[in-house]
Amino acid sequence: EVTLRYVPGVGAVNGGAVLICFDDITDREHASQMRRDFVANVSHELRTPLTALMGFIETLRGAARDDANARDRFLEIMEGEASRMNRLVGDLLSLNRVESEERVRPKERIDLVAYLSSTIKSLGPIAESGGRNLTLDAPDMPIEIPADPDQIQQVFTNLIENALKYGGENVTVSLTALDRDPALRCPAVRVQVIDDGPGIDPVHLPRLTERFYRADNHRSRELGGTGLGLAIVKHIINRHRGRLRVESDLGKGATFTVILPQ
Ligand code: ADP
Repeated sequence: EVTLRYVPGVGAVNGGAVLICFDDITDREHASQMRRDFVANVSHELRTPLTALMGFIETLRGAARDDANARDRFLEIMEGEASRMNRLVGDLLSLNRVESEERVRPKERIDLVAYLSSTIKSLGPIAESGGRNLTLDAPDMPIEIPADPDQIQQVFTNLIENALKYGGENVTVSLTALDRDPALRCPAVRVQVIDDGPGIDPVHLPRLTERFYRADNHRSRELGGTGLGLAIVKHIINRHRGRLRVESDLGKGATFTVILPQ
């Protein structure tokens, strides 16, 4: 579909022929539609917890005013709603930062193995507390890549947190790193985050990295997801000139593959 805008005053009548000029504004239209959708989504996502907060404030002022038990329960729910808003604003700021840096190539060279190990170390206790398993299979040698260390940590934190979050009880999440993957044409490292959880219906896979896209809306909200995690991951990987591939099927777990040039 192409959107054209009539350019007034440029047309000419010449010996019976009429020249009318149009400007192709397809890309601009598409970009502004995306901006409008994004603002509508953000407003909706913020309004939901805000409406809940306002409802509870009203109840605390009225019916639950002298009921200490109800007050404690409501305050706990309000705290949850406020932290949902806080997470959303945090993710929006991250997305904004990552997007604005997308064209700036990372200059630092980091040892990816060290960053994967430290990510596993910080998420290990969270995994184990839910009876889940988190393992790393990486070479003993450093794997050097040009990268922004904080952003690389964010990529793997988001992917592992998702695997733990959606994998359910007793899920096993394995992280593997392969230096100079021989299957690739250019020197690149391949990292995979593999879980044996319930997996994702393949119909959702092409849209999974879109902002606010959720394969299971109810479950994502229940687990505190903002719907922005994979959009952030995708932008960071783009900045590193890498690639993200998702393979999954219902009942078969999910595999997120990240390719990063060396
Ligand atoms: P959210 O904040 O909702 O987790 P993400 O952008 O991180 O948002 O992920 C988008 C959606 O992809 C999630 O809502 C979830 O439905 C699905 N998803 C991501 N990772 C997994 C996984 N490992 N297993 C099952 N579903 C997943």
